[in-house]
Amino acid sequence: MPKTGRNDPCPCASGKKYKHCCLDKDRAADLSAAVRQRVALQESQALDVASNAVVDLVHDGRLDEAEQAARELLARYPEVHDGYDRLGMVHEARGQFREAAECYRKVIEFTRANPENYDPGLVDIFLELIVKLEASAAQAECALNDADRSG
Ligand SMILES: [Zn+2]
Repeated sequence: MPKTGRNDPCPCASGKKYKHCCLDKDRAADLSAAVRQRVALQESQALDVASNAVVDLVHDGRLDEAEQAARELLARYPEVHDGYDRLGMVHEARGQFREAAECYRKVIEFTRANPENYDPGLVDIFLELIVKLEASAAQAECALNDADRSG
């Protein structure tokens, strides 16, 4: 869109010069768009940092802190899948396979609800994870039953 000069006729067709009509309003709108963009960028950077922090906590074995951080992610960024992804990691690290699979199903729901935001390969990765987790859960339950029988 070509920029309107201050002394040009206002694009709103009022017949006034731009500087006496919509210039201030348009500037304010531009500014708030720029501010919104900046806030969105900061939010997404903050999300990445918070999301990575959960991964670090899981790797350090600080699972209670990791779970709390993952739940905070969920609460703060309910519109993205990261919280469920990270909460799934925490459950997985604890050997809570079914809970982890449940979280990853939520991730898949996110990717299906917003396909434009996600790489289609992501669904396959999570589906594969869920299959493995269900198998691990079944195995663990089986081992538990065997222990019950022998004990
Ligand atoms: Zn105007």
